[in-house]
Amino acid sequence: MTERSLLMIPGPIEFEPAVLRAMAVKTPSHVSPEFVEVFGETLGQLREVFLSSDGQPFVVAGSGTLAMDMAATSLIEPGDPVLVVNTGYFSDRFAAICGRYGAQVDQIKAEVGDVPSPDKVEAELKKKRYRFLVATHVDTSTGVAVDVETIGHLARDNGALSVVDGVCALAGMAFRQDEWAIDVCLTASQKALGVPPGLAVLMLSPRAMDVLRGRRSAVATYYANLSNWLPVMEAYEARRPHYFGTPPVNLIYALHESVRQILAEGMEARFRRHRILSRAFQAAMGGLGLKLVPLSPARMAHTMSAVYYPDGVDSALLGKIRAAGVMVAGGIHPRIADRYFRVGHMGAVTPGDILTTVGAIEQALLALGYEFEPGAGLAAAQRGLGQL
Ligand SMILES: *Cc1c(COP(=O)(O)O)cnc(C)c1O
Repeated sequence: MTERSLLMIPGPIEFEPAVLRAMAVKTPSHVSPEFVEVFGETLGQLREVFLSSDGQPFVVAGSGTLAMDMAATSLIEPGDPVLVVNTGYFSDRFAAICGRYGAQVDQIKAEVGDVPSPDKVEAELKKKRYRFLVATHVDTSTGVAVDVETIGHLARDNGALSVVDGVCALAGMAFRQDEWAIDVCLTASQKALGVPPGLAVLMLSPRAMDVLRGRRSAVATYYANLSNWLPVMEAYEARRPHYFGTPPVNLIYALHESVRQILAEGMEARFRRHRILSRAFQAAMGGLGLKLVPLSPARMAHTMSAVYYPDGVDSALLGKIRAAGVMVAGGIHPRIADRYFRVGHMGAVTPGDILTTVGAIEQALLALGYEFEPGAGLAAAQRGLGQL
């Protein structure tokens, strides 16, 4: 069997060869001058990726769920009111984590594929003095994007800290931490940041850092306590080693290379590329007569798409797409899990990857007897890609 296949799931994604090569360095000591320089430079450059001028970056070994856990356990005190803008599976997870650390959690839930309206969020914020407003930038279970700019401003205007799960969005979807008044944004390496799984990455605003420093109660966890990692991040950025837990040295070399590539492309160019490639893919699905999970184009993410199977087609489609050389993912939203599939198109994704994926989906649909004009998806994708 061939090893050549294209991984188009919402993380892990296809990684740039130079990022993978960066990982293959002979592991130096985590306190060696060469590693201190690499880690320190990466931390500083992450501010440019988050578009944060004065945020505090954290990079810790773990997955995106650890990043969520770190934010919640470190900032929430028992009894804190938290409002979760819920757009699916990962919002459910964030609500559960907040509850686990003693928050009183209220949720505004939208229909599958929809986003709670800003008016509703604002009305809820006026009813109670919330400490935190939590949203998922792109919920990976629905492919729905939340307008986190509005979330940030609503939180700031109503005395709450805004917390954004940016795991499936950061470095793909447009995001401006300072301008949008976001207090905490977190992500994981294997999504649009373009680094193999294993790094939890967070950026806290000065306001969020004040909340961390001003806690009345002790943080209930040890490894996930951001206060334990702060001296490490500060030291490495000042080009001094400092120990709390051994950093994942080789992964940080990979992050260093990926961040270098991201900044070389430029954040605005990167946001634009993701927007155009995603719109081209989504237009292709429309061209094939397939319906997307988000209820309107404005709600569709730029990093991934969730697509309903057409009538007469089920999850057998996934195997057929794989046979055509492309890996996509099944559904995970509990209410519609067996009715749709998901395609990641973030990070190093190219126009060729989009065409290959659309072509593989067409082949799979043909194999299953779905009736459509062969090439209709590819033609729609080509028209969209013309805007690059
Ligand atoms: C992938 C993902 C997570 C979880 O990240 P892990 O690295 O799998 O723990 C959380 N939130 C969102 C939006 C995600 O896409």
